[in-house]
Amino acid sequence: MKDVIVIGGGILGVSVGYHLAASGASALLIDRRDEGRATDAGAGIITPGGDASSRNPWSRLVGEAEAYYPEFVQALRDNGVEETGYSVCGSLIVAVEEAERTAFSEASAGVPEGDGKSSSDAVVIEEGRAQELFPALDTVVGAIYEPTGARVDGRRLASAIEAAGVRRGLEVHHGSVERLEVAADRCGAVVVDGERVETDAVVVAGGAWSNAFGEQLGIGLPVGPMRGQIAHLDLGQTDTSEWTIVSGFRGHYLVPWDDHRVVVGATRETNAGYRVETTVEGMLEVLTEAIRVAPGLRGARVKEFRVGLRPATSDGFPIIGSIPKVPNVHVVTGHGPMGLHLGPYSGKVVADAILGRGDDAFAVFGVERFI
Ligand SMILES: Cc1cc2nc3c(=O)[nH]c(=O)nc-3n(C[C@H](O)[C@H](O)[C@H](O)COP(=O)(O)OP(=O)(O)OC[C@H]3O[C@@H](n4cnc5c(N)ncnc54)[C@H](O)[C@@H]3O)c2cc1C
Repeated sequence: MKDVIVIGGGILGVSVGYHLAASGASALLIDRRDEGRATDAGAGIITPGGDASSRNPWSRLVGEAEAYYPEFVQALRDNGVEETGYSVCGSLIVAVEEAERTAFSEASAGVPEGDGKSSSDAVVIEEGRAQELFPALDTVVGAIYEPTGARVDGRRLASAIEAAGVRRGLEVHHGSVERLEVAADRCGAVVVDGERVETDAVVVAGGAWSNAFGEQLGIGLPVGPMRGQIAHLDLGQTDTSEWTIVSGFRGHYLVPWDDHRVVVGATRETNAGYRVETTVEGMLEVLTEAIRVAPGLRGARVKEFRVGLRPATSDGFPIIGSIPKVPNVHVVTGHGPMGLHLGPYSGKVVADAILGRGDDAFAVFGVERFI
């Protein structure tokens, strides 16, 4: 008998599992590791801009999740896991064409000018400074620099959280949860590859596959795959370790890493189902946009294309909370394009709720909103 069974070992599942185990609960995490797991393909941008003190639950969640990262990374270190894939590298929002000037003016309204060297506040910087921060840029019509912008490598972070969880007693099992045993408004067991495991509570953190449990829970879980194709470019001998993240004005971005690599992406496809495929159209889209923003990447070698299925909900907001008619089943999914940013914190929110320490600050993200 387990206190809690967590279904799914992406960033959401490992975070719930870690936080439960670190608080002394007996937790078992079961992961099928599907091809297309979003955590393995994510670009890893932690987007500044939320407000932890806001009354708006979304802004508050985004802000608290960003603020939680340094504390969480330190907690992993305290559990003996050093390599987390998280770092603060700064981020730029750049307009590169005259046609983007109006959008840039709106985005930069109220942002002071500066060089971003002496404060952590966002500033509008000059073209030369933007090129210094991301040397593959060419023409820059306008640039906003956020010194606090951060990135995280989803694969490394998920492994780090799992390793720290295991050190605190988390059990991890590779397998597929076929069904939940639900009777009298309670889930008392899950069936994993034909074997029944009893539990006091269940967390569904199955990413884009979470909807498979909707029928058994008597509720629709309107979450499905949003395919993302993303390219990893190798810049040879160019040192990219001091480069910043760049976002353009067409929803695409460039994320530099220490190993001479820049990751450019990504497509957001809602009509591709569960097909984990790299398409000509997808490659064209991300590479065209990358060199439009940063022509200096034109000579880079394409090292790898990754494809992931972001768990996306019908209203674009995550699902965080328990099932009204089966309250010992909790759902944490649907984090769409922001799951690496939000995941560690959302996992903590769910673990706290199970441990009886939660508040209702994020009740608005409950599954009730779809009933
Ligand atoms: C190209 C791309 C770029 C992205 N960029 C960013 C970014 O810059 N910033 C950001 O914050 N986010 C980004 N994301 C989004 C982020 O990666 C996802 O929101 C997040 O990883 C989702 O995590 P998850 O744990 O919910 O799902 P997943 O990582 O998909 O994990 C779900 C897991 O559950 C398992 N599972 C499902 N059903 C079962 C079952 N029945 N039994 C056992 N196991 C099961 C699956 O096998 C899988 O391992 C990006 C995603 C993509 C694809």
